[in-house]
Amino acid sequence: ERARLGRLRHTPAVTMDGEPIELHANIEMPADAEAAIAAGATGVGLFRSEFLFMNRDGELPSEEEQFEAYKAAVQAMKGMPVTIRTVDVGADKPLDRLTVNELRHEHVLNPAMGLRAIRWSLAEPSMFRQQLRAIYRASAFGKVKLLIPMVAHLAEVRQILETVRKVQQQLTDAGHAYTRVELGVMIEIPAAAVMLPLLLRHVDFVSIGTNDLIQYTLAIDRADEAVAHLYDPWHPAVLHLIARSIAEARAAGKGVSVCGEMAGDPVFSELLLAMGLRSFSMHPSQIPAVKQRILRADAQRLAQALPAILASDDPQTTAGQELGAGRTAG
Ligand code: PEP
Ligand code: MG
Repeated sequence: ERARLGRLRHTPAVTMDGEPIELHANIEMPADAEAAIAAGATGVGLFRSEFLFMNRDGELPSEEEQFEAYKAAVQAMKGMPVTIRTVDVGADKPLDRLTVNELRHEHVLNPAMGLRAIRWSLAEPSMFRQQLRAIYRASAFGKVKLLIPMVAHLAEVRQILETVRKVQQQLTDAGHAYTRVELGVMIEIPAAAVMLPLLLRHVDFVSIGTNDLIQYTLAIDRADEAVAHLYDPWHPAVLHLIARSIAEARAAGKGVSVCGEMAGDPVFSELLLAMGLRSFSMHPSQIPAVKQRILRADAQRLAQALPAILASDDPQTTAGQELGAGRTAG
């Protein structure tokens, strides 16, 4: 088994009908890049930078500390893309009490809908610029992509672009090297999925965060045990938003990936391929299992099954029946 997984690591992820698939890793710390490489990841699709900001006892990471962390991840990935997401604190990923007290922002009533992620960054502009400077400086050492969490408003995108321009000027003035960094937004609030064509005019790529997209589409708190049985990735509304987002991004010629749990769950591999997804990002430990699914998949045949699945009252059962034709036994 171990030898077989070892061989799998060096096998390119290509479907039976010849579609190359990106299998990227989700990481929380630069040291996780090692596990990503060991698992055969061809890039980092999600570096959850908030982990540098959590458990800090009141002091947030400086620009230098962040720069060193991003640079370490970028260098470890040896030229493969590293997608760094700006801080996504709040809700299920709180800053510690002391750190919060250092800032102006008090504990809120409903954190999942409160001042979290990009909202927090835009409310703390000097911290946001500091993080962007660190990310841009790391771009001099490899291929960096910038990903923004929880975007819901075009005004946020405008503010982000303006801040990026300001930061580039600051770096140029200070003599710091940087290269072009692609800008992407996460699709994890239904509003962003619904107005995706408008967002796509302003960004280079999108990454679908199914964990939060499910939470907000179904109004099910992802951390609340009492409603966990209603947290349903197979819900037709969820599947429609994901399928449409992938199709619209592809039609616009923009990159699209999924970096939520669905991307790393082999149960959904064929369905996501059927939707046209060609870039998956997941916990490194999930890469071999998803790769095995991809190696046996016929993307073109899978795509033919999609309309019936999306039209079904019971997509899970229909997917079980319809996707078999695009999969060879193994
Ligand atoms: C998501 O919401 O799907 C996602 C990838 O982000 P996180 O799980 O860090 O909120
Ligand atoms: Mg999220």
